[in-house]
Amino acid sequence: MEGIITPDRIRLFAEMIERADKITVVTHTRPDGDAVGSAVALSCFLRSVYGKDSAVAVANAWSSSLDFIFDDEDRKSVYRYDIDKEKTEGRLEGSDFVICIDCNGFDRTETLQQVLEASVVEKALIDHHLNPHTEDFGVWFSTPGISSACELLYWVLMAMPGIDGETSRIPVHSLEALMAGMTTDTNNFANSVWPSTLMMSSQMLAAGVDRDRILSELYNRYRENRLRMIGYALYTKMVVMPEGLAYIILSADELESMDIMEGELEGLVNMPLGMDKVRMSLLMKEDDGYFRVSVRSKAGTSANRFASAYFNGGGHELASGGRLYFPRDIADSSMAEGYVRAKAEEFFREGR
Ligand code: 5GP
Ligand code: MN
Repeated sequence: MEGIITPDRIRLFAEMIERADKITVVTHTRPDGDAVGSAVALSCFLRSVYGKDSAVAVANAWSSSLDFIFDDEDRKSVYRYDIDKEKTEGRLEGSDFVICIDCNGFDRTETLQQVLEASVVEKALIDHHLNPHTEDFGVWFSTPGISSACELLYWVLMAMPGIDGETSRIPVHSLEALMAGMTTDTNNFANSVWPSTLMMSSQMLAAGVDRDRILSELYNRYRENRLRMIGYALYTKMVVMPEGLAYIILSADELESMDIMEGELEGLVNMPLGMDKVRMSLLMKEDDGYFRVSVRSKAGTSANRFASAYFNGGGHELASGGRLYFPRDIADSSMAEGYVRAKAEEFFREGR
């Protein structure tokens, strides 16, 4: 973390916190485990260690499988734009410090973007995506060379005055939220695990984090629908192109008839990578006027380039996402498959 978590930046960050009364942590739209875990951990830290009025603001829902990350205090201080636009905007406008976590810029917060752009208060960024918009932040901690935003936040907190590298001085509730988010972002230690990731995990276990409970909350509480939908998607919907792209396109009708909820297909897009011949995997889920696109790739193939070139998105080198709009990018949803096949042929012909 040398060069990223520097004493100067930590001092600046701590001063910004000290100066503020009302702090709001924002994260990306459709927050995943890393987004929820890092935002909750930071908000709890600001409340417990600094005594601040801290809150989390997001555009919309997370998967209900992540509800366990929140305690009663967290639940009282979450603002969701899709539930209450005025209250969420009011919270952001009334905050004197805003921290963006697990998103590389305001645009990833979707409906919060305009308020953030109009806001003149101090802002900090803590993120691990490519292309961080550092110009919008007074202080920033950002590197793609880490497992997750949760891990990055852990090392930032460890460097804070008063914590001084002592894990047990960070509230256990924050540690557990960080462990949960790191676990989902690494797919339970399957991807982007760094020496620092294992060091953090070891220190957290020693400090009393109940990892068994976290694993059981994350991975043993799915609904039957999820497994049946995954079976259906892999058996009847997955197509494997000779170029090495596996894709699954799920229509809004299919998602609705199988009653699939937000975040419930987490992990599906990784599964086709288990085939030797597959270099990149694509999952498209039809929404209102667009497809939500998830891309995962093996080293040597850039999911980020594929998502940014053809799906209005980006993310990480091997794990990215985006959207395909209709009628803007394709005439209608029935054109999605032809679009994917043509773009995959082009992408692999160009040698990535
Ligand atoms: P997922 O496929 O799990 O939704 O997202 C994988 C990664 O891609 C995440 O790191 C996420 O932040 C990023 N990502 C997902 N959707 C978008 C998008 O629409 N735009 C950008 N820039 N990144 C995205
Ligand atoms: Mn993340």
